[in-house]
Amino acid sequence: MRVPWVPREGIEREAHKVISEYGKMVGRNVAPPIPVEHIIEGFLGLRLCFEDLEEKFGQKGILGVLILDEGRVVINTQLAESGPEGRYCFTCSHEVGHWILHRHLIKKAAKRSGDQSAIICRLSDARKSHEWQADYFAACLLMPRKHVFEAFKTVCGERPLVLENENSKLGGTWVAVDPCVSNWHYIAQLVCNAGGFDNVSKEAMAIRMLELGLIVNTTEAKIGWGV
Ligand SMILES: [Zn+2]
Repeated sequence: MRVPWVPREGIEREAHKVISEYGKMVGRNVAPPIPVEHIIEGFLGLRLCFEDLEEKFGQKGILGVLILDEGRVVINTQLAESGPEGRYCFTCSHEVGHWILHRHLIKKAAKRSGDQSAIICRLSDARKSHEWQADYFAACLLMPRKHVFEAFKTVCGERPLVLENENSKLGGTWVAVDPCVSNWHYIAQLVCNAGGFDNVSKEAMAIRMLELGLIVNTTEAKIGWGV
């Protein structure tokens, strides 16, 4: 599916709008952890279901499906039952992103092709623009800028954290975390803890902080997500 280019700010605005309208519905200010399951069912009026999508479609790496005709968000059972909570909630939020940003386009494409109006989300499609947009929406929904900045400030202070070393130069046992690339997961976990981001993975938080300029990696080393 082809989608028009949308600036990051536009996607973030849409995610913010969902949180603020959901807040009006429940009558309180919404803060992390963002209750994405209730946003899907209670706010958007969609049904959240679980199926073995890899068996159903005979393909590996299917995370979720949004079926517009049936108003259903279907999450792969393996992800929902045995995957980390962060990945499960991110996939749910990703489907919300498709609903908000792409539902009209999905319907249009289905009308043209005669197929069911649905979108299948595969890991292998992560670089396609509609998938990137839904991922970015999910990050903005689960990790609202204001709350990330507040949590970061509590942990690291006012200034961005500059990672100048790939590995720690400190010897011995330290209570504080040395801000180097190989310690990215400690830093992300501390910020998650400080901001109540209980349904967000460390990877997602680190990516969000890099994107918001709160962490600056000046080394040649890439952050390894395998930790
Ligand atoms: Zn998707």
